Amino acid sequence: MAVAPAAGKWQDRGMLSLITLLLLPRPVIDVHVHTTPERTALVADVLAANGVTRFVNLSGGTVGDGLEESLDAARDLDGRVAVCANIAWRRVAEPDFGAGQAAMLARARALGARCLKISKALGLGVPDPSAPGKLLAVDDPRLDPIWAAAGRLGMPVFIHTGDPKAFFEPLGPGNERMAELGVHPDWSFADPVFPRREALLAARDRVLARHPQTTFIGVHFANNPEDLDYVAATLAAHPNLYVDVAARLPEIGRHDPAKVRAVFGRFADRILFGTDLGITRGIMLGSVGKNRPGLADVFLFYADHFRWFETSRRRLPLPTPIQGSWTIDGVALPADVLDRVYHRNALKLLFGADAPGPADADALDTAPPWSDYF
Ligand SMILES: [Zn+2]
Repeated sequence: MAVAPAAGKWQDRGMLSLITLLLLPRPVIDVHVHTTPERTALVADVLAANGVTRFVNLSGGTVGDGLEESLDAARDLDGRVAVCANIAWRRVAEPDFGAGQAAMLARARALGARCLKISKALGLGVPDPSAPGKLLAVDDPRLDPIWAAAGRLGMPVFIHTGDPKAFFEPLGPGNERMAELGVHPDWSFADPVFPRREALLAARDRVLARHPQTTFIGVHFANNPEDLDYVAATLAAHPNLYVDVAARLPEIGRHDPAKVRAVFGRFADRILFGTDLGITRGIMLGSVGKNRPGLADVFLFYADHFRWFETSRRRLPLPTPIQGSWTIDGVALPADVLDRVYHRNALKLLFGADAPGPADADALDTAPPWSDYF
């Protein structure tokens, strides 16, 4: 059962959040969700109750290892769920790994997968089979057949490269993400055994340049939300790059709201709403601390996102738990930008213009009342 949030949290934020939801003027697609076949229908209903009419499950699995079940679970849901395939990295030492995974991707597409998701394991965990003790580089040419196949098949590639800047800095009281790294010490890449963050991002950018026919979605604001100028320059340099904002409002929202608004305005066709919500056996709201959140917290999580996008309120709480001790300032995006970021870009890119299913406005009307979930 859902765990009720602390009473104080409700008093401070509950009513405002409810009002925000009721006034929500437009449907929203969350392009960055992780769930299991067992939980897919539940996630679709919970999200609909929060005004989120469609979502992308980035954790679909590979052909023969979970993908069929993920697609089956999505099939009953009127086109509300797009499923990404993943790569079978455990096969990396097999000969012709790239060609084999490219063929797997073609089968995944034929089965109904819409996209490919690459986790941060590429660059930070997958071993290089020909160099013992070394990691496979993000731009290793042996992976080129995979990127090329994704382009040919019309499957956008969600790519996670590196991690927050603080995860590469020494652990200790001076690290601004210590609350999170204290709970998850294995998320630290401070050890020089790992490539440096700049090198990982540069390798990712070389892949973008080498495969202009393939659409990439740089998750977590191209994994460099700390540097708005870099994100803008990278989007400008690579017309095949999109970005999502998943679990990075704490960083994006730290910048001057006028500057953020300008970047969103300039690249309104290539920025996607996403959260990194995970509903598997437990719930993850972009990150997770020692206290497991309940379904009621999912409601606050989305409301906090919407308030950042739609209002110019100052000192908003971070939507994601334990990602820092600061606050963020709302950016009040104009309606035409919001429409594209919230929903139109994702509909075109990941659900197809002719996506089946109810009109998104109808889906909002038919969603069960949010109070059913508490
Ligand atoms: Zn994620």
